[in-house]
Amino acid sequence: MALPSSNALTFNAKELSAGQHETQISEAGEINLHKHFKHCTKNPKHENFIPVDTFSLEHLPDDCRDEELYDCVKILADLTVRILVRVTSPNRPDVWPGTNTPYPLHDLRGSNELKTGTGRLWMVSTFTQEQEERRASSITSCPCSKCRHSSNPSKIWGEFYVVTATHVVFDETEAKETSCRLFYNGETCPRVIIDGFDAYFDKALEYDRCWLRCATCDLELVQVVQEKIKSFDTLWEKLQEKFEPSRDEHKLAIVVSHPHGCSKQISVGQWVDKYNVAGDYKESKFTYTTCTCPGSSGAMVYFLGYSGGKYWLHLHFGGLNAELNHSGVGFDVAKNYDNVEEYDLENLSDEAVDDIMNKLLFESD
Ligand SMILES: [Zn+2]
Ligand SMILES: [Zn+2]
Repeated sequence: MALPSSNALTFNAKELSAGQHETQISEAGEINLHKHFKHCTKNPKHENFIPVDTFSLEHLPDDCRDEELYDCVKILADLTVRILVRVTSPNRPDVWPGTNTPYPLHDLRGSNELKTGTGRLWMVSTFTQEQEERRASSITSCPCSKCRHSSNPSKIWGEFYVVTATHVVFDETEAKETSCRLFYNGETCPRVIIDGFDAYFDKALEYDRCWLRCATCDLELVQVVQEKIKSFDTLWEKLQEKFEPSRDEHKLAIVVSHPHGCSKQISVGQWVDKYNVAGDYKESKFTYTTCTCPGSSGAMVYFLGYSGGKYWLHLHFGGLNAELNHSGVGFDVAKNYDNVEEYDLENLSDEAVDDIMNKLLFESD
């Protein structure tokens, strides 16, 4: 299925399902992921994927060779996680709503085959048993997998939001059987894992956005991630100002993902077309040449000068054809966008952020 002609450059949400999703399926579990990497048919030698530790300023194109951009990509890499889902929900639909296009992995419903994708650490907060908002909820102690099975669960814990595609983590059933590996830059890296326990989803399935909730009682980890998110947001904003005027010339599109569920890789390319969502939400999706493979589904795609701020997320959807990939729907940052203030979360309490989340995700138009 092709996107509409590039003259129109608008699309209907139903056309989101075009192309091939890039979740990696591994019948024999995690151990086989390297075989999938080795026998890849999309990018057989993975030549244009850059391991995080070898990424340098020279990998950025001439017109974007900027120290701050380099730093920002490195932090984006640190915030990128490998997502591993151990079940496939029986609730996945046969087809995308209103189409005949099969929904990803509908044929694996109810199975325990392992699948992998990519996500981004997006927000983290610390909670204690005493906090009123937690006393009022069903979560009154650390919901990490270790504490869930302990008679003495931790009374102070961190909760993360990891943003990924809904076709990677479909519902709460899958969220509870999901884990994220952090700082997986190479095979010898220590295993830093956080466990999924719940998720929020975009109100429209076609928009394909999932906010996976994960927990840990490693408070040092919470602090490390908190600082990285803060640095990323600050740098991102500076770069937005610097590169927005030239965004339609350099067209830089960067993906950090975990191809085949293996260690993290950075890919640098350009976007080709930008399609606005029919209707008027300042939302769009992009096509791009930046390399991705199975396992890249759900990775954040950073369109320099377009992507910015907390909610302006374009996530990798899949391959449209052999040369071209495409994102799901994200918001564009524009200087005159009236609602920017409304969603500026810098100084808001966690409660206020939750309110905005609920408004964005669950209230109908
Ligand atoms: Zn590959
Ligand atoms: Zn715990």
